Amino acid sequence: MTDFTRTRALFDLPQGITYLDGNSLGPLPTATADRVARTVTQEWGAQLISAWNTADWMAMPRALGDRIGRLIGAEPGQTVIGDTLSIKVFQALAAALHLNPGRRVILSDTGNFPTDLYMAEGLLKLLPDGFELRTVPPEDVAQNITEDIAVTLLTEVDYRTGRRHDMGALTRLAHDNGALTIWDLAHSAGAFPVHVAQGGADFAVGCTYKYLNAGPGAPAFIYVAPRHAEHAEPALAGWLGHKAPFAFDLNYIPGAGIERMRVGTPPVLQMAALEAALDVWEGVDLDALRARSLELADRLVAAVEASTDLALATPRDPAMRGSQVSFRHPQGYAIMQALIAAGVIGDFRAPDILRFGITPLYLSEGDIDHAAATLAQILDSRAWDRPEYRARKPVT
Ligand SMILES: *Cc1c(COP(=O)(O)O)cnc(C)c1O
Repeated sequence: MTDFTRTRALFDLPQGITYLDGNSLGPLPTATADRVARTVTQEWGAQLISAWNTADWMAMPRALGDRIGRLIGAEPGQTVIGDTLSIKVFQALAAALHLNPGRRVILSDTGNFPTDLYMAEGLLKLLPDGFELRTVPPEDVAQNITEDIAVTLLTEVDYRTGRRHDMGALTRLAHDNGALTIWDLAHSAGAFPVHVAQGGADFAVGCTYKYLNAGPGAPAFIYVAPRHAEHAEPALAGWLGHKAPFAFDLNYIPGAGIERMRVGTPPVLQMAALEAALDVWEGVDLDALRARSLELADRLVAAVEASTDLALATPRDPAMRGSQVSFRHPQGYAIMQALIAAGVIGDFRAPDILRFGITPLYLSEGDIDHAAATLAQILDSRAWDRPEYRARKPVT
């Protein structure tokens, strides 16, 4: 059994705040500040450039990749961290298209996070004519996996509604039709157990600043199935993905396996924060996390539906959702601003979605009840109906 009272004590949450936005930016683990300070003073400050060897900075992308691997069902040596998720999407896509010559269609859906689609469009501009990004409604993905698809580019959990694709079934369908799969796990890693290897995913990518709590700008990760790792062509052929970076060879030779998905110098300070964040996950049973997440989500849905007229946007079927709950309301933005002003932090996604991240590591029943009660009070009193809550901020 995982003790979620213990994990809650590992976070530095401000007094008086109920935080339901860990699906967007995870909160600060208590150990992070010291861990980062140690890297700054004892490693960078005291050891200067030798810390690349003495503090093993150069090995960290692989070591941290392996620790994320445990959370997404990968074996050691199949996951590496670096860059941001947008970059990792581009890398996976370019490698997948190269691995499936003769096919020219990328299949994605309209629920995908825009950057994934933008990265695909950007890549297509570099490729010869005839390559295409085909974007269909999420519920139509299965019927559109046809024999002309080179690769599916899908985000497992919809960032707006929390709707979850059936990764195993869609992967099998893609393979049966000769297509490869890229799974974006931005809203999966740290949200529930993921089984990339067992599910047969060809590539998986994700970020570490959402459910994994590694802080703003923390690096992304990429998983490549072992059957592809030695054949994947790195489109972003950076020196740290070279077979021998310090040979300073003028010709690029890809590194062994997952090494070739490295690009440039890794973000050492952010990696220190990621290391501290991953410590929190030691001893956390992901099945227990999932059970608790569903319990808390159901509690929030029941309370909000009993006390407000908000419309649930998240599927009710537990198998079809991730670890967030979303509601729709035409005044969603102003309502969320009023809620945040009252100390309950969720967020808003256009055009009308109020999102609440369900993160059992640091949320309790009391938090859920308080959030629902505050929301009901704001709606009853129309406290949201003020000009300052309607004014849009740059980040929603
Ligand atoms: C959060 C998120 C991103 C963000 O990409 P960055 O490059 O890290 O800014 C990309 N894709 C999905 C599906 C996301 O949820």
